[in-house]
Amino acid sequence: MAKDYDVIIIGGGVSGTALLYLLDKYTDIGSVALFEKEKKLAQIASHSTQNSQTLHFGDIETNYTFAKAKSVSAGARLVQTYLDTYDKKKHMHSIFPKMVLAVGTDEVNRLRERYKEFKSLFPQLELIERDEIERKEPLIVKGRDPDEEIVALWTPQGYTVDYEKLSQSFVSQTKDSTKRVDVFMDTQINHIKRNGRTYTLYSDKGSFKTEALVVDAGAMSIKFAKEAGYGEHLSILSVAGNFYRGPEVLKSKVYTMQNPKLPFAAVHGDPDVHATGYTRFGPTALPLLMLERRNWKTVVPYFQTARWNFSGFASLFKITGDPTNAKYIFKNILYELPLIGSRLFAKNVKKIIPTIKSGSIKKDRGYGGTRPQIVNTNTRTLSMGEARVEGQNAIFNITPSPGASTCLANALRDTQQVLKFLNRKYRFKTERFKFDFKVE
Ligand SMILES: Cc1cc2nc3c(=O)[nH]c(=O)nc-3n(C[C@H](O)[C@H](O)[C@H](O)COP(=O)(O)OP(=O)(O)OC[C@H]3O[C@@H](n4cnc5c(N)ncnc54)[C@H](O)[C@@H]3O)c2cc1C
Repeated sequence: MAKDYDVIIIGGGVSGTALLYLLDKYTDIGSVALFEKEKKLAQIASHSTQNSQTLHFGDIETNYTFAKAKSVSAGARLVQTYLDTYDKKKHMHSIFPKMVLAVGTDEVNRLRERYKEFKSLFPQLELIERDEIERKEPLIVKGRDPDEEIVALWTPQGYTVDYEKLSQSFVSQTKDSTKRVDVFMDTQINHIKRNGRTYTLYSDKGSFKTEALVVDAGAMSIKFAKEAGYGEHLSILSVAGNFYRGPEVLKSKVYTMQNPKLPFAAVHGDPDVHATGYTRFGPTALPLLMLERRNWKTVVPYFQTARWNFSGFASLFKITGDPTNAKYIFKNILYELPLIGSRLFAKNVKKIIPTIKSGSIKKDRGYGGTRPQIVNTNTRTLSMGEARVEGQNAIFNITPSPGASTCLANALRDTQQVLKFLNRKYRFKTERFKFDFKVE
């Protein structure tokens, strides 16, 4: 016999757990279940070793447009408020200053223009010149050619987050719930079946039925969407990111300027959320033929989710044939070469710290997850951010960066949609949410 729940969530990363938390605390829905295939929550993209730990607002991410920065910052503020409220002892986060550094005349001019546009959105953001950069981060200036122009945007409030611990905190908030909230760990959903307005989920521990399904399974969400008959025109370009470990040379997060055509942040230097004594540099961007990094069982699902038709191949050729993308991919492949790879990567680090020795930077084995970038085979384009497929009484979220920063905003949007799926039998506690999260 299948067990029934009002809502079922597949995936116990930061997206699924944020949704579980909102459904429990801010709705009167009777029963919710979350399924996670690993023994612990948030072991894939949301684990602190797999991502850059940044709470993205859009102030130092120069590949974001003004509109994107506005929406990402609204979402990030929810996470910020949650951390300020529940993490006073800073087990889940740290606060470091952060900046984006422009190097050379072209970047400097672009950053000055960007500041004019973005300062209204981020009043705390300051444009700082060489002298001030040197005061804040002496090693950025030490040994740099005095004729090389530099300028930076700086803000004191950079949140660095352990999204695994945040996921655990969301779930622990549901422990005393008066509702039926069940979290099934170590339980893989193997496939799903749509029966009109309901779904049956088949796992290695039995089957489960629901009227509202939300799939927050990272790249795996696309597999479930296709099983239910949705998102046929979408494929995944899995882009892994490696991190490198260098000596402790920075006190702040230091981003560099990115080409706005690329959906990833350029290489940056970051203090770790928990550890001291070193600086993390990265991530790189390396195409990979698996849906989850270092999980060989996801190679077959990767090929199953690809589109093996003319528009699938045409999309791939169009995206990889674009000169900006091709150059970027080629450069990132070179970083994988034995012996010279790390030295080539070190050039990116020298842009931030000119005096750093190439030999002092080593690839961090086991660090860096993969970002499931979405390819729309109808338009033959690469999506710049998250993707969401909505079907009858079901949502499938695929969340590359900045999906962790926007976890509560996405969960809020999905909570409203789930209430619609359930014919508005239940309600959202709007006033309580607005009060707790300090929103209008
Ligand atoms: C290199 C890199 C750097 C990044 N940096 C940042 C950053 O600085 N800031 C930021 O906001 N974002 C960043 N991101 C993106 C961020 O990590 C993701 O957007 C976010 O973690 C996605 O969370 P999620 O819960 O949707 O997915 P995940 O954390 O991947 O969780 C999905 C969960 O679903 C489970 N699952 C999958 N299939 C099944 C199944 N069949 N049955 C049961 N469970 C299943 C998985 O085990 C997993 O726990 C980065 C990503 C990468 C790769």
